[in-house]
Amino acid sequence: MFDELDREIFKRGQQIFKVGDPGDCAYLIEEGSVEVLNSRHGREYRIRLLGKGEMFGEVALIDHQPRTATVRAVEDTVLVPISRKLVEELLAKSDPILHHLLLVILDRFRDEKILSADQSLRVPVSHEEYDRRKALEGEATHKLALAHGLARALSHDEFQLHYQPICRLSDGRIAGFEALLRWQNPTNGLMQPLDFLWLAEQTGLVRDLGLWTLERACRDWPQLRQSAGVTAPFVSVNLSAAQLAGESLAKDVKDIMVRHHMAASELKLELTETVIIEHPDIALQVLTELTNLGCSLALDDFGTGYSGLGHLQRYPIGTIKVDRAFTTPMLESAQSLEIVRSSIDLAHSLGMNVVAEGVETKALHDKLLELGCDFGQGWYYGEPVSLPEVTRRYSVV
Ligand code: C2E
Ligand code: CA
Ligand code: CA
Repeated sequence: MFDELDREIFKRGQQIFKVGDPGDCAYLIEEGSVEVLNSRHGREYRIRLLGKGEMFGEVALIDHQPRTATVRAVEDTVLVPISRKLVEELLAKSDPILHHLLLVILDRFRDEKILSADQSLRVPVSHEEYDRRKALEGEATHKLALAHGLARALSHDEFQLHYQPICRLSDGRIAGFEALLRWQNPTNGLMQPLDFLWLAEQTGLVRDLGLWTLERACRDWPQLRQSAGVTAPFVSVNLSAAQLAGESLAKDVKDIMVRHHMAASELKLELTETVIIEHPDIALQVLTELTNLGCSLALDDFGTGYSGLGHLQRYPIGTIKVDRAFTTPMLESAQSLEIVRSSIDLAHSLGMNVVAEGVETKALHDKLLELGCDFGQGWYYGEPVSLPEVTRRYSVV
């Protein structure tokens, strides 16, 4: 450990730093021991004895203020200095809430020290540091407020599903719908999934939310299916990595389908390549269980991952959804066109069907039809809308 770092050696009785010194590093004790000293009425007293493997000097390192104690070697001691730069780089990557809480705690700690002893323990922070902390505080507060709202949103019935048609290219009829999550946030209005799903994933709420989504899509299905124009319609529901990694996905899906008298062949589950790559073996097991139930599977955002269809051949995937990053520029970019064309051909050769995402124009629709693509999804056919709006727009009377 710590091979690359320089050591500092202190003789017995030697001072390492004293109260009020500037502090730009912490220390890890590699050999020996040190005492941490405070002073009252001019007299020093020991508050802690630290030995091998322990750390000190971290307070000033993190809060950019002077040292709050004096530290002296009790015997000949070898220390590994840990620089502020290193710690700050790690802190910058940490959760802003934790980083902010750490600074709040250190601030309180310093206030107590000042009350009991030395006024010199606080110096004004630089403008740069002040701005950095204000930005961090803003970020932490925003994230906390969002997490707080999210935790409450399920029980307050603030989530909704919007449904977007997926059309069969050959006759333009609706083959199914994709369920897309929305959050009717009391302060921010209607929020899109990319603005809150990342946080749900971090807080563990994503599993409950995943169940809610499945439940709601199955509950809505009888009404929704009346708006489809083909004989074997489906509803697509997105799965998250946490749902797949959980123990009970197949059982949960089965229970929900039974509760809502839903035919398994009418439920399609969408997942991305990254979800599979994160849990390759669990994925194989769970996905097989789901297809054994009779559900079908779609590989979402195809083309944006790394492994390509070859690696995914062992998974029971029936549909690939070509990401709109390739569909949208297809008419201007020969490269995108080639990616879409070869994805369609490869999927067909493996017995899969293809949905092209992000179809916004008739020109794109026509080109996809020419390439032999099976289905299209996008604004050209209709944007995601609420269930009553689906019924109003698409119901066949
Ligand atoms: P996705 O699964 O790729 O969903 C398609 C996204 O493309 C949707 O965004 C949809 O509104 C948008 N879109 C559809 N047609 C067009 C078009 O023609 N042009 C453009 N520019 N965009 C179009 P949305 O609803 O914001 O969802 C974003 C992502 O959030 C989804 O991407 C999906 O990964 C995730 N998501 C949505 N609902 C759920 C859910 O219930 N569970 C999970 N785990 N993820 C969800
Ligand atoms: Ca999707
Ligand atoms: Ca997609």
